[in-house]
Amino acid sequence: ASVFAGIAQAPEDPILGVTVAFNKDPSPVKVNLGVGAYRTEEGKPLVLNVVRCAEQMLINDPSRYKEYLPITGLAEFNKLSAKLIFGADSPAIQENRVVTVQCLSGTGSLRVGGEFLAKHYHEHTIYIPTPTWGNHPKIFTLAGLTARTYRYYDPATRGLDFNGLVEDLSSAPLGSIVLLHACAHNPTGVDPTVDQWEKIRQLMRSKSLLPFFDSAYQGFASGSLDKDAQPVRMFVADGGELLMAQSYAKNMGLYGERVGALSIVCGSADVAVRVESQLKLVIRPMYSRTPGDWSHIIKQIGMFTFTGLNSEQVAFMRQEYHIYMTSDGRISMAGLNMKNLPHLADAIHAAVTK
Ligand code: PLP
Repeated sequence: ASVFAGIAQAPEDPILGVTVAFNKDPSPVKVNLGVGAYRTEEGKPLVLNVVRCAEQMLINDPSRYKEYLPITGLAEFNKLSAKLIFGADSPAIQENRVVTVQCLSGTGSLRVGGEFLAKHYHEHTIYIPTPTWGNHPKIFTLAGLTARTYRYYDPATRGLDFNGLVEDLSSAPLGSIVLLHACAHNPTGVDPTVDQWEKIRQLMRSKSLLPFFDSAYQGFASGSLDKDAQPVRMFVADGGELLMAQSYAKNMGLYGERVGALSIVCGSADVAVRVESQLKLVIRPMYSRTPGDWSHIIKQIGMFTFTGLNSEQVAFMRQEYHIYMTSDGRISMAGLNMKNLPHLADAIHAAVTK
């Protein structure tokens, strides 16, 4: 008997389920056209040369360690990620209006962005194109937003239903969120022209519609990373705000590593600082935690506990959080109460993730 005996069998994911079925098929002539992953002429997984080279460099670097990263991820990666999509000379980056956090590929970036909006943005409706990547409605609904659709593809012309798109976005409530595929729209392979993008930009800005770009294929549409980023850069150039989810699954061939980033372009550097602080709060209970095992604090007996904090961390906590303990990291449990405990937890977290 199992306490889970009543659980129903869930259906396979419509995309990943194709690979499951493919792997089960013993036929020698089988072909998998379901999953979006590059293959060699022999149908084998392809790892890009640049990725192989980078891996070798990392393996041969003895100074590399596997410590926890800060909640927002690797700072250098975030900087380069923002530069790749917004341009190295982006005024928004130079003005410190861009917050970038490392996320679990494109999916994780969309989810963190969705939860941030559900928590901190006044409008909870997100418009997604029809059709779109099948995961979009699920990600945003689970994040706490309401997904609605706007017309995108016209089966009659096998092209963009530009009039339908304009009509639907024109009738969206002021301030609604609009999901836009940055380039190489999935699944249609149909993108607006630069002129059409400009009209979409003007319409969205005139109605204060908040753009949420999903960039899973930068480089795939034109072969140029910069050219594929042009629609995004048009929206950044007008000084307005937007969200940007980047995936490196496809354009770097890093499907399994789950490498991605969420950027929020804010109206001012001051807002960006506060947005970043709130993004940390979204990420922390989702997949970050204070590094290390702190169960010894509960297991140790008596009045004192040895926290394991070093003298530098102790000094940091005194200076930044006004928490006083001996430099060997010993704390008196008697000094703690329900009121000051969260403050101590925050301080320990800041000290060990600094
Ligand atoms: N967005 C779109 C439009 C996609 O097609 C995909 C992957 O197929 C993703 C986001 C996210 O993929 P991942 O989470 O693997 O980066």
